[in-house]
Amino acid sequence: MIQDIAPHRFANEFLPNAQPNKDDLVFYVRGQEVAARRVGQTGIELPRVGEDEVTAEGLTFLFSLDGRACWLAPEAGAAEPPEGYELVHNRALRMERRGPRELMLAIYTAVHLADWYAKNRYCGACGHEMAHHEKMRAMRCASCGNVVFPRLNPAVIVCVCDPERNKIVLTRYAAGRYHAIDALVAGFVEIGESIEDCVRREVREELGLEVKNIRYYKSQPWGVAGDVLSGYWCDVDGDPTIRMDVSELGRAVWVGPDEIPGQPDDLSLTNEMMCLWRNLRQAPQDGEYKFYGWQTADVVDAQGRTPRDLYDLLSGLWCAQTCAPRMRSSWSEQNPTYGQCSITAFLAQDLFGGEVYGVPLGDGNYHCFNVVGFCVFDLTSEQFGNRTLDYGSAMLQSREQHFQKAEKRERYELLRSKLEGCD
Ligand SMILES: [Zn+2]
Repeated sequence: MIQDIAPHRFANEFLPNAQPNKDDLVFYVRGQEVAARRVGQTGIELPRVGEDEVTAEGLTFLFSLDGRACWLAPEAGAAEPPEGYELVHNRALRMERRGPRELMLAIYTAVHLADWYAKNRYCGACGHEMAHHEKMRAMRCASCGNVVFPRLNPAVIVCVCDPERNKIVLTRYAAGRYHAIDALVAGFVEIGESIEDCVRREVREELGLEVKNIRYYKSQPWGVAGDVLSGYWCDVDGDPTIRMDVSELGRAVWVGPDEIPGQPDDLSLTNEMMCLWRNLRQAPQDGEYKFYGWQTADVVDAQGRTPRDLYDLLSGLWCAQTCAPRMRSSWSEQNPTYGQCSITAFLAQDLFGGEVYGVPLGDGNYHCFNVVGFCVFDLTSEQFGNRTLDYGSAMLQSREQHFQKAEKRERYELLRSKLEGCD
């Protein structure tokens, strides 16, 4: 997603005493557009303090990016671009896949804040002109004391699943709206409504379905409507026949894993959820590698290695000593991944980030594998032979909890030191 910018750092704390420095970024915002310069096929540049045409007067502090202050130019919401820059719509930047990604996040956030500043110039209580608060990111009325904080519009993204038929609902907006790409059910939380109730209501209104087993996934702190999105999974409850709201949607259909192409970029929560579900539920195919998800295991570590490279390395390192003690007597070189799942998954997490999930095996134990964004891979799946695990039922695993067992931590450290010996 756009906010996944590590190792870059976005810090949104308000610094009331910050002063503009040369090279700080300046956001000239008009509606959803910002002043920017397209560079090459995929780059963008923003105006900086210290450039001849860029103002250093009347700037409003926004946030910091990698320790560098970012500022809002005067006339927020209706700014003219400085010479040498053009106004570019944030959605155009996204569709052209221009970055780097941390600048994209900064642009979305700056547009959101500029819109709020532009719409809070006068007090809603008494009509007096508002002024910037001295200490906080807020506007204050000198006449009546009314303080207004930035406004966020909470919204949900809902992936409605039918676990029995192995399908989810994909939607498209009705014509006339931004409708060309597959999406999930979405809508804004209303006052007096819990987020879970919002999930139920939006699915009922848009699809005519009832749902159960509502579970949180992740959030997305940017959008074009001042929104903060919460992503939820849920399961259809009862009749799966869709009765679509035609005023809102142009299409709503149940689809299986092979019918989900995904959006053209990996920037949104919607796309991450669709593609993660697809990758969890897609039947594994035969191929040159023996581990689940090898075909799409395309994430890279700091040294440019993929999970396939890690599998090749670990194939020479897994041994009886790194096998779980209760399984050790059955470990063999013919079944090298046996008893290695959790330490392998946490080692892969060290390299590729993401999360470790576990499939319940029915005996109180979990089989661990990796999820990085919507990339799913299970380096130790071959021990199950032809049995396909139900990856869709997996639960998030805690490193701290697993490594409370000293012997497991020691095996993990042994495998890690063996791997480091390969570098
Ligand atoms: Zn007032």
